[in-house]
Amino acid sequence: MAYVALFLVAFQFLRLHVRRLGRRAANNERRARLAARRDSLSGLANRQGFNDFIESSAAEDAASRGQAAIIYIDLNGFKAVNDKAGHHAGDAVIRAVAQRFRAVIPSDVLLARIGGDEFACVMIGEEAANAALNIARRLSASLEHPVEHDGRVYDIGGAIGISWSTEQTPKSFDKLVEEADLAMYRAKAQQLDQPLTYDNSLGLEHEHRRNLEAAIEDGLAKNEFYVAYQPIMDANTNQVVSVEALLRWENEERGAVPPDVFIPIAERSKLIQKLGDFVIDTVCQDFDETTPHTVSINLSPSQLNAANICHHYVDKLMDAGLKPNQIEIELTEAVLVEDFERARERLVSFSEAGFKLNLDDFGTGFAGMGYLHQIPFNKIKIDKSFVRSIGKGDGSNKMLQAMSLLGDALKKDLVAEGVETESQASMLKLLGFRFMQGWNFGRPMTINALRQHLDNHRRAA
Ligand code: C2E
Ligand code: CA
Ligand code: CA
Repeated sequence: MAYVALFLVAFQFLRLHVRRLGRRAANNERRARLAARRDSLSGLANRQGFNDFIESSAAEDAASRGQAAIIYIDLNGFKAVNDKAGHHAGDAVIRAVAQRFRAVIPSDVLLARIGGDEFACVMIGEEAANAALNIARRLSASLEHPVEHDGRVYDIGGAIGISWSTEQTPKSFDKLVEEADLAMYRAKAQQLDQPLTYDNSLGLEHEHRRNLEAAIEDGLAKNEFYVAYQPIMDANTNQVVSVEALLRWENEERGAVPPDVFIPIAERSKLIQKLGDFVIDTVCQDFDETTPHTVSINLSPSQLNAANICHHYVDKLMDAGLKPNQIEIELTEAVLVEDFERARERLVSFSEAGFKLNLDDFGTGFAGMGYLHQIPFNKIKIDKSFVRSIGKGDGSNKMLQAMSLLGDALKKDLVAEGVETESQASMLKLLGFRFMQGWNFGRPMTINALRQHLDNHRRAA
């Protein structure tokens, strides 16, 4: 009898103990689950937490009733903090921004950090659309003051995109995410300081872009691209001093598609690297070490962002027996805007490898002029809009004269672009310009036509 009682007590004890162990395991698991959904730096939900929420039945229910909205936020100026002041400062900025965001968001709205400097909010319920508009405005306002850390001040902005559904047009969360992302991207591209709400024109544009991307990819495979070369003259000697490589696309259905149309599309994807490779490979085929002039090629900001771009080009040139000093790299001020320090380093490494650097489209940008001293540009190309306005009597001659003096002062060669007539050329010469490019001297032409053109020129000389 006593054994039985003892057994029962021991059994009861064991059962309680097992249950306690089970509870502890469940608690640990819940904690681990929560941690996996939380971003330790900001204390907000992370991408996993965001995904879990929008895939939850409550969220899907709301979406099917057309009562859901999403806000996407991408910080401006954050990469520069990391690069210039280090990761500690970057972390502090993220924490500060997360705190500001949390302060303006109601507790029933999910706020997540879904990438390095990307945040998202999800709203569900009848008032989701209105709430999204209000919250987006408050998020935007919360970034109006700079963030301070360790005695330094950082200007952080944000591109904000919003998307919502209505009862008449319910949308899945996948769709809302895609739309908010598109709106955010557009807000960033247009440097808007206000939130942008998705509308159908953005969707059509997106589709158009995708079609064009596919066509570019296809065109590369089908050899629809080629490189045209345009001569650049020394007006004093009437000699061709260099040629500019300009990409051309002759599409089966679309005809000649101008680079101003397809380059910006390619820049948003990896396609720009492929097109850039096509250009440098073609240049390597078309010229050799005996070429008496330099060849300039255009580089977009996103091409400069590729980490090993300089070595990549040097390797290709070496394989073809060309030297970096036969190539001029043309860049616009746009490469200096996003992250000046990184762009400067890249450009200095190009220059140290022997490449010449040209500043393209000068006069159209928005940067100050201080950078002209800091980056070893060899030539400055004056945008064709200035040449076009010659003789129009709005002070444009004075403007060109000032640029000419600036070139002298900085000891940089100037090239006037878009010279279409002999009278423009004469005026430019009077104003002190020596190098010129434009239809007056030759349109962009195929490599064979260029060879012919150079031959004729030599014979004439
Ligand atoms: P850009 O670098 O400013 O190139 C000069 C543009 O002016 C070329 O337009 C050229 O055809 C045009 N042009 C030359 N002479 C005259 C003239 O006398 N009058 C007028 N009205 N225009 C003239 P294109 O070839 O349409 O190229 C447009 C832009 O596309 C280029 O501007 C450049 O920024 C970009 N691009 C072209 N090829 C490439 C490339 O291979 N890679 C990259 N990243 N960008 C390229
Ligand atoms: Ca150019
Ligand atoms: Ca130009």
